Amino acid sequence: MSDRIEGVKKLFTSKSARVETNKGDAYYDKLFQTCQARIEELKTQQPINNRLDIGDVLETQGIERRDFLKWASAVTGMLMLPASFTPLVADAALMMNRAPVIWLELQDCAGNSEALLRSDGPKIDEIVLDIISLEFHETLQAASGHQAEKQLEEAIEHFKDKYLLFVEGSVPLGMNGQFGTIGASGETMHDHLVRVAKHSAAVVAVGSCATFGGVPAAAPNPTGAVGVMDVIKGKPLINIPACPANPANMVGVIIHYILTGQVPELDSLLRPKFAFGYRIHDNCERRAHFDAGEYVEEWGDEGAKNNFCLYKMGCKGPMTFNNCSIVRYNEGVNWPIGVGRGCIGCSEPDFWDKYAYERPMADAKIKAPTGGVEKTVDEFGLGLLTAAGIGIGIHAAASAFAGKKEDGGEA
Ligand code: SF4
Ligand code: SF4
Repeated sequence: MSDRIEGVKKLFTSKSARVETNKGDAYYDKLFQTCQARIEELKTQQPINNRLDIGDVLETQGIERRDFLKWASAVTGMLMLPASFTPLVADAALMMNRAPVIWLELQDCAGNSEALLRSDGPKIDEIVLDIISLEFHETLQAASGHQAEKQLEEAIEHFKDKYLLFVEGSVPLGMNGQFGTIGASGETMHDHLVRVAKHSAAVVAVGSCATFGGVPAAAPNPTGAVGVMDVIKGKPLINIPACPANPANMVGVIIHYILTGQVPELDSLLRPKFAFGYRIHDNCERRAHFDAGEYVEEWGDEGAKNNFCLYKMGCKGPMTFNNCSIVRYNEGVNWPIGVGRGCIGCSEPDFWDKYAYERPMADAKIKAPTGGVEKTVDEFGLGLLTAAGIGIGIHAAASAFAGKKEDGGEA
């Protein structure tokens, strides 16, 4: 038993260095200068299509500059930049109306568009929908039919090689793509995506369907659904998975792009490390209970009432890389584990088939996600499978021990 306890201790006290948050003064000095130069250049450009000025919007909304800077400071922290970058991040937000965005919806439920609309911040929904130049979004815009198609063509032509292409939904490839067609011409979603991606500056796949196929790609996957990265090659591509993707991460990616002109540092699954560099389990509010071997054993039991760890109820937080345990959802009010439901691993590939049902991880025979973030998903994650089993073992032994005492056995 003592070996096992040592094993668990070692695992959970080992340095969790998946994301390099301090790259040294020289790195940040250089980056600061690059960002400064980029912001200055953007300032010389006119806002696209006379988009609103965020300064005016903040004033109209009665939002004080101090609150705006507080928000900029939070975003700076989220992007894992030093606090000295806060004024630059605020400036980047002011340049939102210089960033042309085209948003495509493919095989999906529109949950990510919905999440975006409910995003917070200094009225981030205004920022995103009114301030950034959202040139095309068929669900949110007034235009439809031929008018919408014309709008898309004009946006592609006008902002050739400059627009960010956000894609929501998976790409159905079955029956030559006939499971999903768009517009009067019946263009397949596949062709639609390839055509619009061709002249984008970068492609951002938003939500689990666009990134890894999501629910449409779950077995038996009748439509042959795949993620955007299986179709689009040769373009900078950023994956923002989760179901839905957290709007904070979408805004973070746009701000990062405006600030640096580059895609953020990505993991092997093309997810920004600032958002997907840590596991749910690393920052979970129930983590102390996991370490103490205190688990919910049945829905509604005493453990549930005391907010014990949900691992035995199938929580996949130990396998899942995402920042929802930190940024939460619905304006930071709460998140799934906070309301008593285990993580179903929605930001990992094949989550619906691999993670989304109730079973403890130790019995699941789950392979760690491909590649992993540095060596951690494979090595640390697989190690955890064993260690979690050990943790459960310790808990089981402790329960048996307690049972013995209650039965009047030897202590
Ligand atoms: S197993 Fe789930 S509920 Fe338990 S600490 Fe980890 S992430 Fe939190
Ligand atoms: S807790 Fe897990 S399932 Fe829930 S949103 Fe976060 S990553 Fe997805």
